[in-house]
Amino acid sequence: MSSNSAKVQTVLGPVAPRDLGHIQCHEHIWLRKGPSYRVNPALWMEDHGRSLAELLEYRAAGGGAILDAQPGGFGRDAGALVSLSRESKVHILGITGFHKRIFCEDQSLYELDEAALAERFAGEVLQGMLSPDGKPTGARASMIKGAMEGDDFDRRLFGALARAARESGAPVMIHTDPRLSPLPLLDFLEERGVAPRRVLLCHCDRTQSPKILPDLLDRGCFLCLDSINRPKYLSHEAELDLIVSLLRRGYTDRLLLSLDTTAARLRAYGAKDMGLDYILRDFRSRLARRGVTEEEWDRLTRLNALSLMIDESEEAIL
Ligand SMILES: [Zn+2]
Repeated sequence: MSSNSAKVQTVLGPVAPRDLGHIQCHEHIWLRKGPSYRVNPALWMEDHGRSLAELLEYRAAGGGAILDAQPGGFGRDAGALVSLSRESKVHILGITGFHKRIFCEDQSLYELDEAALAERFAGEVLQGMLSPDGKPTGARASMIKGAMEGDDFDRRLFGALARAARESGAPVMIHTDPRLSPLPLLDFLEERGVAPRRVLLCHCDRTQSPKILPDLLDRGCFLCLDSINRPKYLSHEAELDLIVSLLRRGYTDRLLLSLDTTAARLRAYGAKDMGLDYILRDFRSRLARRGVTEEEWDRLTRLNALSLMIDESEEAIL
Protein backbone atom coordinates (compact mmCIF):
# COMPACT_ATOMS: atom_id res chain seq x y z
CA MET A 1 0.00 0.00 0.00
CA SER A 2 1.20 3.50 -0.66
CA SER A 3 1.82 6.00 2.12
CA ASN A 4 -1.20 7.98 0.93
CA SER A 5 -3.59 5.20 1.89
CA ALA A 6 -2.71 4.97 5.59
CA LYS A 7 -5.29 6.93 7.55
CA VAL A 8 -6.53 6.90 11.12
CA GLN A 9 -10.28 6.81 11.63
CA THR A 10 -11.68 9.52 13.91
CA VAL A 11 -15.28 10.43 14.76
CA LEU A 12 -15.05 13.19 12.12
CA GLY A 13 -13.58 10.90 9.45
CA PRO A 14 -10.16 9.65 8.33
CA VAL A 15 -7.10 11.71 9.27
CA ALA A 16 -3.52 11.50 7.97
CA PRO A 17 -1.33 9.98 10.72
CA ARG A 18 1.02 12.95 10.89
CA ASP A 19 -1.93 15.26 11.57
CA LEU A 20 -3.03 13.50 14.78
CA GLY A 21 -0.22 14.85 16.94
CA HIS A 22 0.10 13.96 20.62
CA ILE A 23 -2.40 11.21 21.41
CA GLN A 24 -3.63 9.58 24.63
CA CYS A 25 -5.30 6.29 23.76
CA HIS A 26 -7.27 5.57 26.92
CA GLU A 27 -9.26 8.56 28.15
CA HIS A 28 -12.83 9.36 29.12
CA ILE A 29 -14.20 12.77 28.18
CA TRP A 30 -17.90 11.88 28.01
CA LEU A 31 -19.84 9.32 30.04
CA ARG A 32 -23.61 9.17 30.33
CA LYS A 33 -25.21 8.90 33.73
CA GLY A 34 -26.08 5.25 34.20
CA PRO A 35 -24.77 2.03 35.75
CA SER A 36 -21.19 3.40 35.86
CA TYR A 37 -22.36 6.36 37.95
CA ARG A 38 -24.05 4.02 40.41
CA VAL A 39 -20.75 2.12 40.80
CA ASN A 40 -18.73 5.33 41.18
CA PRO A 41 -20.15 8.88 40.89
CA ALA A 42 -16.86 10.01 39.28
CA LEU A 43 -17.86 7.88 36.27
CA TRP A 44 -20.23 10.54 34.97
CA MET A 45 -19.16 13.30 32.59
CA GLU A 46 -22.09 14.64 30.68
CA ASP A 47 -21.66 18.42 30.67
CA HIS A 48 -20.84 19.76 27.22
CA GLY A 49 -19.26 23.00 28.46
CA ARG A 50 -17.00 21.23 30.95
CA SER A 51 -15.89 18.50 28.56
CA LEU A 52 -15.23 21.10 25.89
CA ALA A 53 -13.22 23.27 28.31
CA GLU A 54 -11.12 20.24 29.23
CA LEU A 55 -10.40 19.46 25.56
CA LEU A 56 -9.50 23.11 24.84
CA GLU A 57 -6.97 23.07 27.71
CA TYR A 58 -5.57 19.83 26.36
CA ARG A 59 -5.19 21.35 22.93
CA ALA A 60 -3.56 24.49 24.36
CA ALA A 61 -1.01 22.24 26.10
CA GLY A 62 -0.14 20.54 22.81
CA GLY A 63 -2.67 17.70 22.75
CA GLY A 64 -3.81 16.59 19.32
CA ALA A 65 -6.02 13.54 19.82
CA ILE A 66 -7.61 11.25 22.39
CA LEU A 67 -9.37 7.93 22.24
CA ASP A 68 -12.52 7.92 24.37
CA ALA A 69 -12.50 4.37 25.77
CA GLN A 70 -16.23 4.01 26.56
CA PRO A 71 -17.91 1.51 24.24
CA GLY A 72 -21.53 1.76 23.07
CA GLY A 73 -24.09 0.49 25.56
CA PHE A 74 -21.74 1.34 28.45
CA GLY A 75 -22.24 5.13 28.61
CA ARG A 76 -20.88 6.26 25.25
CA ASP A 77 -22.62 8.98 23.25
CA ALA A 78 -21.09 9.09 19.77
CA GLY A 79 -22.97 12.27 18.84
CA ALA A 80 -21.50 14.11 21.84
CA LEU A 81 -18.00 13.02 20.78
CA VAL A 82 -18.63 14.38 17.28
CA SER A 83 -19.67 17.84 18.53
CA LEU A 84 -16.87 17.97 21.09
CA SER A 85 -14.30 17.13 18.43
CA ARG A 86 -15.72 19.66 15.99
CA GLU A 87 -15.75 22.47 18.56
CA SER A 88 -12.43 21.73 20.28
CA LYS A 89 -10.48 20.75 17.15
CA VAL A 90 -9.08 17.81 19.13
CA HIS A 91 -9.27 14.60 17.12
CA ILE A 92 -11.43 12.11 18.99
CA LEU A 93 -11.37 8.38 18.31
CA GLY A 94 -14.36 6.29 19.39
CA ILE A 95 -14.57 2.68 20.45
CA THR A 96 -16.95 -0.27 20.20
CA GLY A 97 -16.96 -3.62 22.00
CA PHE A 98 -17.76 -4.34 25.62
CA HIS A 99 -16.72 -3.18 29.08
CA LYS A 100 -17.37 -4.81 32.47
CA ARG A 101 -20.85 -6.23 32.81
CA ILE A 102 -21.61 -4.05 35.83
CA PHE A 103 -21.31 -0.95 33.58
CA CYS A 104 -23.70 -2.24 30.90
CA GLU A 105 -26.83 -0.16 30.24
CA ASP A 106 -28.74 -2.98 28.53
CA GLN A 107 -28.10 -6.54 29.68
CA SER A 108 -29.74 -7.97 26.53
CA LEU A 109 -26.29 -7.55 24.95
CA TYR A 110 -25.29 -10.71 26.82
CA GLU A 111 -28.05 -12.73 25.16
CA LEU A 112 -26.57 -12.23 21.69
CA ASP A 113 -24.56 -15.09 20.20
CA GLU A 114 -21.00 -14.66 18.96
CA ALA A 115 -21.97 -13.93 15.35
CA ALA A 116 -24.50 -11.25 16.29
CA LEU A 117 -22.07 -9.58 18.69
CA ALA A 118 -19.32 -9.64 16.05
CA GLU A 119 -21.66 -8.08 13.51
CA ARG A 120 -22.58 -5.33 15.94
CA PHE A 121 -18.93 -4.53 16.78
CA ALA A 122 -17.67 -4.73 13.17
CA GLY A 123 -20.64 -2.62 12.01
CA GLU A 124 -19.63 0.18 14.38
CA VAL A 125 -16.15 0.21 12.85
CA LEU A 126 -17.18 -0.16 9.22
CA GLN A 127 -20.47 1.77 9.04
CA GLY A 128 -20.59 3.87 12.18
CA MET A 129 -21.38 3.89 15.87
CA LEU A 130 -24.94 3.81 17.11
CA SER A 131 -26.40 6.57 19.28
CA PRO A 132 -27.66 5.66 22.78
CA ASP A 133 -31.15 5.12 21.29
CA GLY A 134 -29.80 2.84 18.56
CA LYS A 135 -29.69 5.24 15.59
CA PRO A 136 -26.75 5.28 13.15
CA THR A 137 -24.45 8.29 13.62
CA GLY A 138 -22.06 7.68 10.73
CA ALA A 139 -19.11 8.31 13.09
CA ARG A 140 -16.94 5.22 12.86
CA ALA A 141 -15.27 3.51 15.81
CA SER A 142 -11.48 3.15 15.68
CA MET A 143 -10.91 0.21 18.02
CA ILE A 144 -12.74 -2.72 19.59
CA LYS A 145 -12.60 -3.03 23.37
CA GLY A 146 -13.00 -6.07 25.58
CA ALA A 147 -12.94 -6.24 29.38
CA MET A 148 -11.43 -9.11 31.34
CA GLU A 149 -13.26 -9.69 34.62
CA GLY A 150 -13.95 -12.43 37.11
CA ASP A 151 -12.01 -15.66 37.26
CA ASP A 152 -11.68 -16.21 33.54
CA PHE A 153 -12.29 -14.36 30.29
CA ASP A 154 -15.58 -14.87 28.45
CA ARG A 155 -14.88 -16.90 25.31
CA ARG A 156 -18.11 -15.92 23.57
CA LEU A 157 -17.54 -12.19 24.04
CA PHE A 158 -13.84 -12.33 23.17
CA GLY A 159 -14.57 -14.70 20.27
CA ALA A 160 -16.93 -12.04 18.91
CA LEU A 161 -14.33 -9.33 19.47
CA ALA A 162 -11.72 -11.38 17.55
CA ARG A 163 -14.13 -12.03 14.71
CA ALA A 164 -15.04 -8.33 14.49
CA ALA A 165 -11.36 -7.32 14.57
CA ARG A 166 -10.62 -9.72 11.70
CA GLU A 167 -13.57 -8.52 9.65
CA SER A 168 -13.03 -4.81 10.23
CA GLY A 169 -9.24 -4.64 10.50
CA ALA A 170 -9.55 -2.55 13.70
CA PRO A 171 -7.06 -2.99 16.55
CA VAL A 172 -8.16 -4.28 19.94
CA MET A 173 -8.07 -2.71 23.43
CA ILE A 174 -8.16 -4.93 26.51
CA HIS A 175 -9.24 -3.79 29.99
CA THR A 176 -7.08 -6.05 32.18
CA ASP A 177 -8.02 -7.38 35.62
CA PRO A 178 -5.72 -7.91 38.63
CA ARG A 179 -7.03 -11.45 39.05
CA LEU A 180 -6.06 -12.60 35.56
CA SER A 181 -2.92 -12.82 33.46
CA PRO A 182 -3.57 -11.51 29.94
CA LEU A 183 -1.26 -14.17 28.41
CA PRO A 184 -3.95 -16.84 27.80
CA LEU A 185 -6.17 -14.17 26.23
CA LEU A 186 -3.34 -13.12 23.88
CA ASP A 187 -3.03 -16.78 22.82
CA PHE A 188 -6.80 -17.06 22.36
CA LEU A 189 -6.89 -13.93 20.18
CA GLU A 190 -3.91 -15.01 18.11
CA GLU A 191 -5.50 -18.42 17.45
CA ARG A 192 -8.47 -16.48 16.10
CA GLY A 193 -6.42 -14.33 13.75
CA VAL A 194 -5.70 -11.27 15.90
CA ALA A 195 -1.94 -10.81 16.06
CA PRO A 196 -0.52 -9.44 19.35
CA ARG A 197 0.80 -6.38 17.48
CA ARG A 198 -2.87 -5.36 17.00
CA VAL A 199 -3.58 -5.55 20.74
CA LEU A 200 -3.30 -2.77 23.35
CA LEU A 201 -3.35 -4.02 26.93
CA CYS A 202 -4.57 -1.27 29.29
CA HIS A 203 -4.04 -0.77 33.03
CA CYS A 204 -1.21 -3.36 33.34
CA ASP A 205 0.79 -0.84 35.39
CA ARG A 206 -1.85 -1.30 38.13
CA THR A 207 -3.25 -4.78 37.42
CA GLN A 208 -0.10 -6.86 36.83
CA SER A 209 3.16 -7.36 38.64
CA PRO A 210 5.97 -5.31 37.02
CA LYS A 211 7.86 -8.60 36.72
CA ILE A 212 5.49 -10.05 34.16
CA LEU A 213 5.27 -6.97 31.90
CA PRO A 214 8.31 -8.05 29.82
CA ASP A 215 6.62 -11.44 29.23
CA LEU A 216 3.57 -9.63 27.86
CA LEU A 217 5.66 -7.28 25.73
CA ASP A 218 7.72 -10.20 24.38
CA ARG A 219 4.49 -11.56 22.90
CA GLY A 220 4.45 -8.45 20.69
CA CYS A 221 1.49 -6.52 22.12
CA PHE A 222 1.39 -2.87 23.18
CA LEU A 223 0.97 -1.71 26.78
CA CYS A 224 -0.96 1.43 27.71
CA LEU A 225 0.54 2.77 30.95
CA ASP A 226 -2.50 4.68 32.14
CA SER A 227 -2.23 4.82 35.93
CA ILE A 228 -0.21 8.04 35.87
CA ASN A 229 -0.95 10.28 38.88
CA ARG A 230 -3.14 7.67 40.57
CA PRO A 231 -1.32 7.40 43.90
CA LYS A 232 -3.94 4.99 45.21
CA TYR A 233 -2.46 2.43 42.78
CA LEU A 234 1.16 3.52 42.43
CA SER A 235 3.29 6.53 43.24
CA HIS A 236 4.89 8.84 40.68
CA GLU A 237 8.23 7.27 41.51
CA ALA A 238 6.93 3.74 40.94
CA GLU A 239 5.30 4.71 37.63
CA LEU A 240 8.47 6.49 36.47
CA ASP A 241 10.64 3.56 37.55
CA LEU A 242 8.43 1.22 35.58
CA ILE A 243 8.43 3.33 32.40
CA VAL A 244 12.18 3.97 32.52
CA SER A 245 13.01 0.32 33.20
CA LEU A 246 10.85 -0.85 30.27
CA LEU A 247 12.46 1.74 27.98
CA ARG A 248 15.94 0.67 29.05
CA ARG A 249 15.04 -2.96 28.39
CA GLY A 250 14.29 -2.10 24.79
CA TYR A 251 10.49 -1.85 24.74
CA THR A 252 10.51 1.73 23.43
CA ASP A 253 8.30 0.87 20.46
CA ARG A 254 5.60 -0.94 22.51
CA LEU A 255 4.52 1.55 25.20
CA LEU A 256 1.78 4.20 25.23
CA LEU A 257 0.93 6.76 27.92
CA SER A 258 -2.55 7.80 29.04
CA LEU A 259 -4.52 8.93 32.09
CA ASP A 260 -7.78 6.92 32.04
CA THR A 261 -9.58 10.04 33.29
CA THR A 262 -12.72 10.20 35.40
CA ALA A 263 -14.64 13.28 36.54
CA ALA A 264 -12.47 13.27 39.69
CA ARG A 265 -9.38 13.64 37.48
CA LEU A 266 -10.60 16.41 35.16
CA ARG A 267 -10.14 20.05 36.21
CA ALA A 268 -13.29 21.24 34.44
CA TYR A 269 -15.28 18.75 36.54
CA GLY A 270 -13.70 19.96 39.77
CA ALA A 271 -10.41 18.05 40.09
CA LYS A 272 -7.82 20.09 42.01
CA ASP A 273 -4.51 18.74 40.82
CA MET A 274 -4.89 17.60 37.24
CA GLY A 275 -6.74 17.58 33.95
CA LEU A 276 -6.52 15.87 30.59
CA ASP A 277 -3.37 17.95 29.96
CA TYR A 278 -1.50 16.45 32.96
CA ILE A 279 0.90 14.31 30.91
CA LEU A 280 1.82 17.28 28.73
CA ARG A 281 2.03 19.92 31.46
CA ASP A 282 3.55 17.95 34.31
CA PHE A 283 4.50 14.34 33.65
CA ARG A 284 6.56 15.16 30.55
CA SER A 285 9.13 17.10 32.59
CA ARG A 286 9.28 14.33 35.19
CA LEU A 287 10.10 11.88 32.39
CA ALA A 288 12.74 14.24 31.02
CA ARG A 289 14.36 14.53 34.47
CA ARG A 290 14.61 10.74 34.50
CA GLY A 291 16.50 10.78 31.20
CA VAL A 292 13.66 9.99 28.80
CA THR A 293 14.69 11.53 25.48
CA GLU A 294 12.58 13.58 23.07
CA GLU A 295 12.69 10.69 20.64
CA GLU A 296 11.38 8.28 23.28
CA TRP A 297 8.67 10.77 24.28
CA ASP A 298 7.57 10.97 20.62
CA ARG A 299 7.24 7.18 20.54
CA LEU A 300 5.27 6.96 23.79
CA THR A 301 2.83 9.72 22.91
CA ARG A 302 2.47 9.50 19.13
CA LEU A 303 4.35 6.98 17.00
CA ASN A 304 3.48 3.82 18.93
CA ALA A 305 -0.21 4.66 18.79
CA LEU A 306 0.08 5.10 15.05
CA SER A 307 1.75 1.74 14.55
CA LEU A 308 -1.00 0.11 16.63
CA MET A 309 -3.78 1.88 14.73
CA ILE A 310 -2.35 1.33 11.27
CA ASP A 311 -1.23 -2.17 10.42
CA GLU A 312 1.54 -1.09 8.11
CA SER A 313 5.26 -0.42 8.16
CA GLU A 314 6.48 2.78 9.77
CA GLU A 315 7.57 4.13 6.37
CA ALA A 316 4.02 3.73 5.12
CA ILE A 317 2.61 5.49 8.19
CA LEU A 318 4.91 8.50 8.03
ZN1 LIG B 1 -11.00 3.48 31.21
